[in-house]
Amino acid sequence: MVEERNSCEDCSAESCGAKTRNDGESEQDFKDRQALARRLCMIDHKILVLSGKGGVGKSTVASGLAVALGERGRRVGLLDVDIHGPSVPRLLGLNDTQVTGSQDSINPAVTGSGVRVMSVGFLLTGPDDAVIWRGPLKYSLIKQFLKDVEWGRLDYLIVDSPPGTGDEPLAVAQLVDDADGSVIVTTPQMLSVSDVRRSIAFSRKVKLPVLGVVENMSGFACPHCGKESDIFGSGGGRTMAEDVGAPFLGSVPIDPAMVSAGDDGGLESYLTGETAGAASFAALVDRLVELVEVGEK
Ligand code: ADP
Repeated sequence: MVEERNSCEDCSAESCGAKTRNDGESEQDFKDRQALARRLCMIDHKILVLSGKGGVGKSTVASGLAVALGERGRRVGLLDVDIHGPSVPRLLGLNDTQVTGSQDSINPAVTGSGVRVMSVGFLLTGPDDAVIWRGPLKYSLIKQFLKDVEWGRLDYLIVDSPPGTGDEPLAVAQLVDDADGSVIVTTPQMLSVSDVRRSIAFSRKVKLPVLGVVENMSGFACPHCGKESDIFGSGGGRTMAEDVGAPFLGSVPIDPAMVSAGDDGGLESYLTGETAGAASFAALVDRLVELVEVGEK
């Protein structure tokens, strides 16, 4: 376990950064940059979850990684910046959450297993709200989430960004310049595999190391006879990962129980139970931890 630190005073000047004001930088921008650096300095590992298109289970995988890391004793935050379709609150049963705080401080929601969650969904009053969020507004909202949310000391911050390579993942990549890297979610079909190549190219372009590829909805274990069948095929994610020289982190099967758990806001109970999905995420997290905590005691 990492020792609890009270403030960023414990961190080295290098890792905190933002010691001097840049040429032409306003006093407020400098203060914001300092506050962001102090907040991020309290978080050891930052991982961005990406996908080439919607519906591949990116938010489910982001939530699964967060809960499974928590099960391994890590302190975890989950930030959902999917402005046009935030699904983390629904999956984790936090739909009715009202976040509290003051001008420069927002308290995250905390799940039953202790994952600290902030989602743009907590602030939207209806589906039409998102229409007004244009590029610069999205950037400042994401900056505010990273800077003002009381994440506390975390081992991991998992960021769920919208599908594609738009403003949101770009903002996160720019604001979190010491991120460990990205986890790319795909399904086995060749079409989504080609979509995901774009996410990999994006990740590399913004200097975000590709930590690995996850193949979701890979194979189906029949709940009645237990026989495995490959509804969408399987292995596309592994082949693509090999092609582009990215690690393959593992796969998650289609499990009808995961769909109903997500629909009912019970994904966390599913992920902490004796389920096929929980076992897959535990194995994924083993590999992830090996990759990002290498060299740490
Ligand atoms: P995305 O974030 O890529 O749009 P979601 O995570 O919201 O996708 O998942 C879309 C739907 O697919 C949800 O209903 C979710 O419960 C379901 N789902 C995701 N992964 C699986 C899986 N491995 N097995 C069964 N259902 C899944």
